[in-house]
Parts: sequence; structure tokens; C-alpha cells
Amino acid sequence: MDCLFCKIIAGEIPSTRVYEDEDCILIKDINPQAKIHYLLIPKGHFEDIGDIAHKDPDLLSRCLSKITALADSLGLEGGYRLVTNKGKNGCQSVKHIHIHVLGGEKLSEKMS
Ligand code: 5GP
Ligand code: ZN
Repeated sequence: MDCLFCKIIAGEIPSTRVYEDEDCILIKDINPQAKIHYLLIPKGHFEDIGDIAHKDPDLLSRCLSKITALADSLGLEGGYRLVTNKGKNGCQSVKHIHIHVLGGEKLSEKMS
């Protein structure tokens, strides 16, 4: 399958991994929008939040729980923002579910 994030998960395309387990990887975004900008990427290929929520809600739940468990060790002790884009209006550019994890500084109060 020609999927950028499946290739990153497989190690065929390099990335800076800050965490990995059987469910997901956490990598640094190549074009950071905040002082800290990670991408939480479930290892299974699901197109977007709707796809994973429908097909494997337990995996989605476990992935989200990891962020709360890891936050302090990732430099996010001051808080963070989770964002996931879906579809054309959400400006999703990579069609493999990923959750943006933003923090390391006070973020804009405006969300878009
Ligand atoms: P989306 O627009 O789909 O919500 O987010 C895709 C994200 O993937 C963007 O923030 C973009 O900077 C990031 N990205 C795109 N290509 C790469 C890559 O090759 N490596 C990494 N680490 N991030 C990427
Ligand atoms: Zn994929």
C-alpha cells in the first residue's frame, strides 16, 4: 500500500521516534506548528478518525491513553492540545489516522 505513515511505521522512511509500542508510534512532525509537535500514529492502517472509531475503538482508546500517561516525560507537563484532521474540510493531507500532539508552550486560544 502506498501510504506514507505505513512506510514510516515500517522504517522504510526515516522519522524521529520518541515512543513506540505494539499499538502506535509517536514521531516528531517534520513541519512543527508549536514548540513541541508530535504525531501519534496507530500502527494499523485506518484512513481517519471515523474509520478507526468504527473498526477498532479499543485501539483508538489505548492510543489516547498513552498520551496522558506519557505527557510529563514528553515535555508536556504544562498541558497540550490534541488535533486530528478528517477529510477535505478538515484539511487531512495524509490518509492514515494520526493525532497531532501540540504543546511545550502556551498555544493560541484560537483553534483555527
Ligand atoms: P494532516 O495535514 O494530514 O493532518 O497532517 C499531516 C502531518 O504530517 C503534517 O503536520 C506534516 O507536517 C506531517 N508530515 C508529512 N510528511 C511527513 C514526514 O515525512 N515525516 C514526518 N515526521 N511528518 C510528516
Ligand atoms: Zn497507512
